[in-house]
Order: sequence, then structure tokens, then C-alpha cells
Amino acid sequence: MTNNTKEPKRPSWIRGKISWNENSEEVKNTLTGLDLHTVCEEAACPNKGECWGKKHVTFIILGDTCTRGCSFCNVSGGTPDAPDQDEPERIAEAVKSLGIKYAVITSVTRDDLKDKGMGQFIETVKQIRKHSPQTEVELLIPDFGADKELLKKIAFSGVEVVGHNIEMPEKFYLKVRPRSDYSRSLKTLEALNSFKKEAGILVKSAMMLGVGETEKDIFRTLSDLKKAGVDIIYMGQYLNPSKGHWPVKKYYTPEDFKIFKQKALDMGFEFAASAPLIRSSYVPISWG
Ligand code: SF4
Repeated sequence: MTNNTKEPKRPSWIRGKISWNENSEEVKNTLTGLDLHTVCEEAACPNKGECWGKKHVTFIILGDTCTRGCSFCNVSGGTPDAPDQDEPERIAEAVKSLGIKYAVITSVTRDDLKDKGMGQFIETVKQIRKHSPQTEVELLIPDFGADKELLKKIAFSGVEVVGHNIEMPEKFYLKVRPRSDYSRSLKTLEALNSFKKEAGILVKSAMMLGVGETEKDIFRTLSDLKKAGVDIIYMGQYLNPSKGHWPVKKYYTPEDFKIFKQKALDMGFEFAASAPLIRSSYVPISWG
């Protein structure tokens, strides 16, 4: 996607904390040693300094190639390799050796696999549970084709939180996420919601703002997510990974994000995190 439109100037508040300490070094060495991948690096996340300094990492499983290739995302699209059978165990090893208390696992979308990658998620949770029984786990999943049987297995995998990101209002899907489907994502969240009481999970979603939406679009999307049964909503500023990606149309101020947060809480979400650098795998709940 070529960006021919002039983008607004990046404001001063879009700056992650630059910190690198012995924790960050340990995280880096562990990931390299175990040949593991993170969204922190794949997405060039501005929070990497802060997160790694606190040993918070979001592992990305099932390879570095996505079958969807959305124009806002830094992960390359194409034909992925077969799942790496040892990956779940290596992630569990990293979680244990780093002493991670809250592990977040996500993946690229694997429409090419019969189980859409569900089995690799389940095995990863199993291995983490085996080696670090006290660690809480959050799964940030693709839509799994809104397949209820697959989603049921994810919901009952013994994790604390299951998230699926809606990312943006419906009207952008055709242009920015042509292989994804807004209503399929809502169905995915509805299915998770239908299992959540019995499974003891919280359902989470997230939106990136600044792709060209109006406030009305934001509130309508929030309303759709609430109706789908989402408990936790995260909102952050969209930042395009390169000039070739979908352009940033607007930078919202920190005050705007506070208004969106209050709106979400007024709508009945149990927890809302909303600030320019919030990302769906950032964990301010546990950081207070
Ligand atoms: S916000 Fe998520 S992706 Fe970004 S550095 Fe933190 S854990 Fe990694």
C-alpha cells in the first residue's frame, strides 16, 4: 500500500521510554539462545524498552509469515512454514528461566492449517503450566475462522485471558484488512464470551486509533465489542511501520485517549486502557 497522502507530524508524546537494563539484556539473550520470536521486535513496538526492562514479553508463535498480510501490519504476508514442534517447550523454558509472571502468547494468522494453529497455542499453554504453574497466561488469538469448536478449546485451555483484536472500525476492513472480516471477529469474541463463565476467562479486545476513523466510528465499534461480551478494551495510537504501510491519518492527544477510556468505562467495560502507547499486549493491569 503506497502512501501518497501527507501524514500529520508525529507529536512529542509518541515516544517510548528508552531504558535498557540487565533484565532487558537477559530477555534478549534468552530469546536469541532459544530462537524465539516476539511481537515486541516484529512490530518494532515503542514500549520494548519499558516492557523488557520489566521482563514482560509477548511471544509470537507459528512463524513470522502471516496468511493475511494486512496493510497496517509489520509482519510479512505469504506462505508460512510448517509449525515448529519444539516451539511450545522452548517458550516454556524462556518463561521459566526469565521468571515471567504474566505470559502473553500471540501468533500470525494461519488460515493454511486445518486447526488454524489452535493446537500450537494449547501445547504452549500446557508446557508453560507444566514448568511455571504460577504464571498467568494470556492468549491473543487470530479469529480462527470464528470456529466455535476451536475457540472452545482455547477458552478451556486453562488461561486467564483470551483476546482477539478488532483493530479498527468496520469501514476500514475492505481497504486495510481485506482478508479479515469485522463480523467474523465479532463472532469470535461472541463465541469466547459464551464460554467465559464456565472457563473462568476474561475476554479482551483492542483498537488502534488514527487510521482515519471518526469519534462516532470509535464509539460504534466500542458498542459492538460490548455487545459481543468483551470485558477488557485497550486503545492506542496507530503508528505505521513504514511509508509503504497504511498511513496515520490522525494523532490523538493523551487527553483524547482519556475521554475514550471514560466512554468505555461508562459503557460498562470492566477494564479499559487507553493512551497513545497502549498496545494490546501491554499489561498496565498488573503494573498498576
Ligand atoms: S507492549 Fe507488547 S509488543 Fe510492545 S514491548 Fe510490550 S509486550 Fe512487547
